[in-house]
Amino acid sequence: MTATYPDTQLFIDGTWCAGSGGRVIPVIDPATSEQIGTVARAEIADLDAALDAAARGFSIWAATGVFERCRIMRRAGDLLRARAAEIAVTLTREQGKPVAESRGEVLAAADIIDWFAEEGRRAYGQIIPARVPGVTQMTVKLPVGPVAAFTPWNFPINQAVRKVSAALAAGCSIIVKAPEETPAAPAALIRAFADAGVPAGVINLVYGVPAEISEYLIPHPVIRKISFTGSTPVGKHLAALAGQHMKRVTMELGGHAPVIVCDDADLDKAVRLIAGSKLRNAGQVCVAPTRFLVQEAVFDPFLSGFTAAVQAARQGNGLEEGVQIGPLANDRRVAALETLVADAVAQGAKLVTGGKRIGNVGNFFPPTVLADVPLSARIMHEEPFGPVAIVNRFASLDDAIAEANRLPYGLASYAFTRSARSIQRLGLEIDAGMTTINHLGLALPEVPFGGVRDSGYGTEGGSEAIEAYLTTKFVTQMAE
Ligand code: NAD
Repeated sequence: MTATYPDTQLFIDGTWCAGSGGRVIPVIDPATSEQIGTVARAEIADLDAALDAAARGFSIWAATGVFERCRIMRRAGDLLRARAAEIAVTLTREQGKPVAESRGEVLAAADIIDWFAEEGRRAYGQIIPARVPGVTQMTVKLPVGPVAAFTPWNFPINQAVRKVSAALAAGCSIIVKAPEETPAAPAALIRAFADAGVPAGVINLVYGVPAEISEYLIPHPVIRKISFTGSTPVGKHLAALAGQHMKRVTMELGGHAPVIVCDDADLDKAVRLIAGSKLRNAGQVCVAPTRFLVQEAVFDPFLSGFTAAVQAARQGNGLEEGVQIGPLANDRRVAALETLVADAVAQGAKLVTGGKRIGNVGNFFPPTVLADVPLSARIMHEEPFGPVAIVNRFASLDDAIAEANRLPYGLASYAFTRSARSIQRLGLEIDAGMTTINHLGLALPEVPFGGVRDSGYGTEGGSEAIEAYLTTKFVTQMAE
């Protein structure tokens, strides 16, 4: 399959434009290591223009009726569905994931837009019974103001669409700093909103030097809310900056998800579901299953079944029919994974399969399984963010829960057991934002999506997600 790949521009005040300095950043195809295009680089003058536009856009959008906002948003969802096949190819070329996964990402984005559009119509306030006759006490939900959103390269569309949709549904304007490595897919998302009729200035899209942009936008008085998805160290830095300026913040950060497989689980089902989940997007997923904790009696059959399942996956260029695992999105991850695997082996872990990059063209790293990994290994503390599974054993459920909760991360968690008592304990006692038991049920638009502790705060899904973009104003009034 051949595919043309577009150069990406900034989108400021309703216009696609080059950066004012004329500078561009190259975009590399992770499957071929070739440059396939460029993305415009924003200068401070461009950020100032985006801030002015977002301030004007906010006054227009907040004053637009909620039914009209919903109608425009749903049209954007329909445009994405109609363009899904074309956008999927663009997404695969810059990010690497198999084109079927890319198409799924675009279609999921359309569902997220629809869901938030409807949620905007249900952002109800309250009437609070008054102590004094003639007084009406109420809360009204108002949009918080212009938002600055920072989104990463692993799901270039879906990490952006949650923020844009929630902001727009609430009546906010937004400046998105999308990933420079995968710029064209998020641009296609923003184009769908613009083509659907979102007024100029309401959505602005910039790329450039991430630290330069965040240091400028976060403190700026126009910006009232920050949303970031990315690594924990960067998230902590940005949250601290936002705190200095008293800005509202949502942080969706890293994870190191435990998968508890008890000896009473349906082992075939567990292997089938969790192997597929591990390989999705080549493991570059914040909720990816990572630390497999398997009860002793089923450790050997789980390890052999899981290893066979990941080895059977076809790896190659994501554009090719039937490929199930593409390259890693950037070469930083290849180097990071090789180092983490070598360190684990040096500490005494058993390398069951994989472990070394494939070839020297593209960022191909095979599905990798490490077994009996000691706690001293770096990978037991650091998020691999790639197709690497750690399979360790446990004796009692207490031990498994203690290990699941050992790290400061608390994003996703998984468990497989047929015991009703264990199901109940795991649901309540794993210290994570999300637990899915005996099936894969995370990341739907209508359910919460977020972490605790070092994995961040706030949710980007479910009915609470729009709250992050609203302020609750109290009004009390007395009829004269
Ligand atoms: P990184 O920490 O350099 O960057 C992570 C993301 O933050 C990127 O999108 C980057 O553009 C952005 N970023 C970095 N510094 C920034 C700043 N000062 N201001 C604003 N944005 C900034 O790491 P990386 O090599 O790009 O990714 C590797 C790690 O990032 C992974 O190990 C994983 O933990 C994390 N990550 C998490 C998610 C997620 O979905 N939570 C997504 C992508 C990456």
